[in-house]
Amino acid sequence: MTDVLIAGSGPTGLTLACDLALRGVRVRVLERRPGPHRESRGKGLTPEGLAALGRLGVAEQLCALGTRGLVLRKYFDGAHVGDTPGGDGLLIGQWRVEEVLRERLAGFGVRVEYGAGVAGIAQDAGGVTARLSDGRTARAGYLAGCDGGRSTVRELLGISFDGYTEETPTMVLGDVRAPALSRAYWHQWFSSDGGGMLLCPMPGTDSFQLQAAPELDEDGRPLPPTLEGFQRLFDRHARMAGIRLVEATWISDWRVNVRMAARMRAGRVFLAGDAAHVHPIAGGLGMNTGIQDAVALGRALASAPAGPGAQEALDAYEAERLPAAAELLADTTARHRRVLAAVREPGRGTEAGLD
Ligand SMILES: Cc1cc2nc3c(=O)[nH]c(=O)nc-3n(C[C@H](O)[C@H](O)[C@H](O)COP(=O)(O)OP(=O)(O)OC[C@H]3O[C@@H](n4cnc5c(N)ncnc54)[C@H](O)[C@@H]3O)c2cc1C
Repeated sequence: MTDVLIAGSGPTGLTLACDLALRGVRVRVLERRPGPHRESRGKGLTPEGLAALGRLGVAEQLCALGTRGLVLRKYFDGAHVGDTPGGDGLLIGQWRVEEVLRERLAGFGVRVEYGAGVAGIAQDAGGVTARLSDGRTARAGYLAGCDGGRSTVRELLGISFDGYTEETPTMVLGDVRAPALSRAYWHQWFSSDGGGMLLCPMPGTDSFQLQAAPELDEDGRPLPPTLEGFQRLFDRHARMAGIRLVEATWISDWRVNVRMAARMRAGRVFLAGDAAHVHPIAGGLGMNTGIQDAVALGRALASAPAGPGAQEALDAYEAERLPAAAELLADTTARHRRVLAAVREPGRGTEAGLD
C-alpha cells in the first residue's frame, strides 16, 4: 500500500518524495512527461533552498555541480559599462537539481513513473484514488499535486487560482550555445530602446540560458521565439560581430502571471509549488519556494497520526504556506518592477531583483 501519491516530478514533487522516503513514508511519483527534461529554467538555489535540500543529503553534490559568485557583466547600447558581483545563491540548472533528486530517490528504491499523468481523483474516508492518463488507477492515503502552474490536480479539485495573467509574453527564453562568447560572466546587455538580452553560462554544460525581450512585429505584437530571432536580438543588443548562437535545445516564452490557489488542501489532497502559486521570476524564488512547500508538506504528512489529531497536523501545512505564498506574490511583483526600472540605467541589471 502506498501512503502518498505525488503528481509531478519537478523540484517540488521530487523534494517531497525524497523527504517522505527519508521519513519512511511509502511514496509513488507519477509524471505526465515521457522522460526527464534538460531545460535550465529555474537556475538558482538560494541559501534557504539549498539548506532545505541539505536535509536530504544532496547539498554537497549540488554545490559540486553548481557555481557561486558568477560576475554579472553589464553592457549598455553594446558598450561594456561595468561588472556587479553575483548574489549568494548557487547557480545550477533546474534539470540538474531534478537529476540529483531523482538519483537520491532511487537510493530509497523509488523511481519516477513516466507517462503517468493524473487525470482524475476520487476521495473517500480511507484514501484517494487517482485515475491515470494511461487508464490505470493508483491508490494511497493522500495525494500531493506538485504538477506545476497549469495543475490538473488543482483543476480537478475546483480550487480557484486567483490573480492576473498578462495577455502578451514579455520575455523569450532558451538554452543555446554561443561558442565564441566568454563563459566567465553572466552577460547582461540592455539598450536605450528598452530591450535587452541576458546570456548566463550554465554550469556543467556548454550552453547559456538566454532571456530577452521579444522581437515585435509591425503592429508591436511579440513574435514567437526562434533561434534565428535570438540571433537578430543578440546582434541588435550585443553588437558583437562574429558571435553566433547555435543549437537551441529549449525555446520558450514567458508572460507575467501572478496567481495563487485559494486553498492548498482539499481533504486528502494537497497542492505545492507552482501548482499553488506562480509569480514573476525576478529574484529567482519559484523553485526555492516549491522546495520549501515540499518540506513543510512532508513534515505535515509524516507527523499526521492515524487517529485523532490528524486534521490539525494536516491543516498546519496550509496555515504555514498559504500566507507565505501571498507574501511571495507581493514580494516578486515588487522585485520585477525594480528590475524593469533598473535596467534603464547603464550598469544595472538583474541584481536589482535580489535586494
Ligand atoms: C527562465 C526561468 C528562470 C527561472 N529562474 C528561477 C530561479 O532562478 N530560481 C527559482 O527558484 N525559480 C526559478 N524559476 C521558476 C521555476 O522554474 C519554477 O518555480 C519551478 O519549476 C516550479 O517547480 P514545480 O516542481 O512546482 O513545478 P514544475 O517544475 O512545473 O514541475 C511540474 C511537473 O509536473 C508534471 N505534470 C504536469 N501535469 C501533470 C499531471 N497531470 N500528472 C502528473 N504530472 C504532471 C510536469 O510535467 C512537470 O514535470 C524560473 C523559471 C523560468 C522559466
